[in-house]
Amino acid sequence: MIEEQVTLSVHTTKVDVADHSSLVDTGFEYVRCNLCGADNVRLRVSSTLKSGEPNDWQVYACTCGGYGTHGPIMQCQQCGLVYATPRRREQDVLELYETVEDALYIEEREGRILTFNTHLRKLESFTGAPNHRALLDVGAYLGVFVDVATRHGWDAWGVEPSKWAVTQARAQGLQMHLGTLEQTKLPANSFSVVTMWDVIEHLPNPLRTLHEAARVLEPQGWLVVHTMDIESVFARLMGKRWPWLMEMHLYYFSRRTLTAMLEKAGFEVAWVGTQGRYLRAGYLASRVTALIPTIGRPLEHLITALKLRKVPVRVNLGDLFTVYARKR
Ligand SMILES: [Zn+2]
Repeated sequence: MIEEQVTLSVHTTKVDVADHSSLVDTGFEYVRCNLCGADNVRLRVSSTLKSGEPNDWQVYACTCGGYGTHGPIMQCQQCGLVYATPRRREQDVLELYETVEDALYIEEREGRILTFNTHLRKLESFTGAPNHRALLDVGAYLGVFVDVATRHGWDAWGVEPSKWAVTQARAQGLQMHLGTLEQTKLPANSFSVVTMWDVIEHLPNPLRTLHEAARVLEPQGWLVVHTMDIESVFARLMGKRWPWLMEMHLYYFSRRTLTAMLEKAGFEVAWVGTQGRYLRAGYLASRVTALIPTIGRPLEHLITALKLRKVPVRVNLGDLFTVYARKR
């Protein structure tokens, strides 16, 4: 069925079937829809990978320049979920994250702290001031959000598969579990809040991870998920040039598909909306350079000349969204 869909699509795109089969030969696999279980997909965005191209772990560093590099991105004909298939096997994805090191992320720490402070204010306005302020940040990486929440009086924990990142975070006195959420097998009903900031799109099996998040949350506990919106106006305007299309992103949710998956995992959605984030001007310009060098490079020179590199800029293109959901 999948082969047929791909074959049908190739006549209107530049991808050929040989490319897809060579991806499978190099350790990629087809996956079924994680939301409805169907294996009925149509091509949404063509692959930009050259066949057999070796990709090293640096593609998976979260601030990498891997914008625009991705395999075939498909859409489930049954439920509309957009996801990457064929793609690396789950075990291979996990091994890459276990070894990831990303010095550039540390550089951008200040912008992230500003963004996370904004996120935490919103979170506290939703959750009120629960007596049991136990929070778990899934995919915590260097623990920036764990740090922000701890400073605001939360008993905050992170869970993260990168050994390097966990070592860095623990060295700063942060509470971290090493591994994926599923691997660490934390006690049931033990957290009042679970957060996933820009993480769900990287997960090989997000529905399974959401079920696990529901298990570790106490009844009526809050789950906060922040991810990109493939159906946003900006994403639609940008089309195949939308910068979030990259190999490390396995799922491209919309408000509708994420809501459906959360409900399936035992949550009730209370709020969906966009929130801006802060980037320092120098970092923002370097991201523009990665995307459109002819605009980005002169912009970087200008910002450096005006000594504006460290100035925080609030960015909201409407293509990132947050969902607040409650465990039923
Ligand atoms: Zn589906």
